[in-house]
Amino acid sequence: MAGTVDVDVVVVGAGLSGLTAARVLQGHGVAVRVLEAADRVGGRVLSATVAGAHVDLGGTFVGPDHEHVTALADAVGVRRRPTYEAGDNLLRWRGGVRRYRGTIPPVGPAALADLARVRAAFGRASRAVPLGRPGDARDAARLDATTLDGWLRDRHATRATRDLMAVVARTSWGCEPAEVSVLHVLHHVAQAGGLDRMLDTRGGAQEQHLVEGAQEVAVRVARDLGPGAVVLGAPVTRVDHGGDVVTVHTDAGPTRARRVVVAVPPALRRRIRFEPPLPAVHRRLAQRWAPGVLSKAYAVYDRPFWRDAGLSGMTVGDGGPVFITFDAGPLDGSRGVLLCFVGGPAARAWEGAGPAERRAGVLRSLADLFGAGALTPLGYVDQRWAEEDWLGGGPTAAPGPGAVAPLHRALSEPVGTVHWAGTETATRRAGFMDGAVAAGERAAREVVRALAVEDGGAGDGAGGAADDAAGGAADGGAGTGERTTGIEPA
Ligand SMILES: Cc1cc2nc3c(=O)[nH]c(=O)nc-3n(C[C@H](O)[C@H](O)[C@H](O)COP(=O)(O)OP(=O)(O)OC[C@H]3O[C@@H](n4cnc5c(N)ncnc54)[C@H](O)[C@@H]3O)c2cc1C
Repeated sequence: MAGTVDVDVVVVGAGLSGLTAARVLQGHGVAVRVLEAADRVGGRVLSATVAGAHVDLGGTFVGPDHEHVTALADAVGVRRRPTYEAGDNLLRWRGGVRRYRGTIPPVGPAALADLARVRAAFGRASRAVPLGRPGDARDAARLDATTLDGWLRDRHATRATRDLMAVVARTSWGCEPAEVSVLHVLHHVAQAGGLDRMLDTRGGAQEQHLVEGAQEVAVRVARDLGPGAVVLGAPVTRVDHGGDVVTVHTDAGPTRARRVVVAVPPALRRRIRFEPPLPAVHRRLAQRWAPGVLSKAYAVYDRPFWRDAGLSGMTVGDGGPVFITFDAGPLDGSRGVLLCFVGGPAARAWEGAGPAERRAGVLRSLADLFGAGALTPLGYVDQRWAEEDWLGGGPTAAPGPGAVAPLHRALSEPVGTVHWAGTETATRRAGFMDGAVAAGERAAREVVRALAVEDGGAGDGAGGAADDAAGGAADGGAGTGERTTGIEPA
């Protein structure tokens, strides 16, 4: 049994993962405190209201198999609704715009044949990567030494196939195909249930929206933890571990606990000084798993005028700064809401521009797709995740060649009393909100078992070891204490 402590467990980071860990721990009777660097909860989920429409500036969509985050949303009363998808999609390609249906854009018969060939090879390679253990894949070192671009070129993929895979890379990892390890890409897609499930709206990862907003899930979980359980504006700068007691330092002073769960993006682990230093594999992971760069913008109109033209609002393109859009508005058409992904080389200048220029750039892209009516929205907002001091980017980490096979295990492998959460540490749907919640559950069960062993119990009261599909987001949470943290949806 450890010496005197302030709480049983400190959780670092009040994103969905850290908050879930705290909720599950508290549900097991463990006293917990969450220390969050920013002045709000949610991390990579952030909601806002623009011209009366509710928008999610980070994590947005959930799919039918995203069972951890949907169970958590259900438990805190955040509802879901389908993403609008009736009508034709648009492809902006090689200077022209054309309509299509389904997931695969009409890039021409020869290009489609090549895309089908490469997708089949990609599917086979992806299914061969063991979930949660990419380093155990056959040829792991060779795959890890190759970028997605290199892998595509090795298969003589045409320019069109490479450009379409670049769109996938920009959306999924916030990077170019030449920047990311193909082992990571194959593993990530396997974790997401395959390319179709990852990219589709109906039946796929874009199927539903959270009605009250993704951040509201985090706000309600934080509120349910009770007064004082979540401390905002408290960047953790140092963790002294190695003995019975782990001491977690912020500028406001130390907190002593029996365990710490660090639930920050892998690269942000570097901002914390660990004493004694972490093993080399953990330090290298934090250096090599940098976040990608993906931004989002919304334009809000009095009504979804594109629906009148039989358009779904879903578009994909090879230009910029906007390269993907969705209709993120209410199904009843009471507002028109276009969600825009901004990224890739065509958005580099946009990222550094001022607010008026960014707005003009996004609206120009929308006008190319939907006509001049898109130039005069009621409201506009954008969010550049790379500007967020305590996140550094998004949507998720984009490890380069050589950073996966030798380092992946350090994502979740505890170091004594230090445990790890965060979406990147998940076995399934890493990079998604679902992975964040599942990883929080897994870390909490790990800690509950460890504490039970220390206390002389069997240590098996918290479910199976590495299976983050087991256990429930809904089993934690105590009390309905006064709101102490988080922000109301704006
Ligand atoms: C543009 C964008 C679009 C996305 N779209 C989707 C989507 O449609 N569907 C989906 O499922 N997912 C999506 N995601 C991904 C999803 O948002 C994330 O996977 C998820 O929110 C990550 O949660 P997390 O708790 O693991 O990490 P985070 O949300 O990153 O939380 C980490 C927290 O730790 C804090 N922190 C960092 N360092 C410290 C420190 N030293 N001390 C204290 N606190 C610290 C941070 O401030 C942050 O609050 C998207 C993300 C982005 C950016």
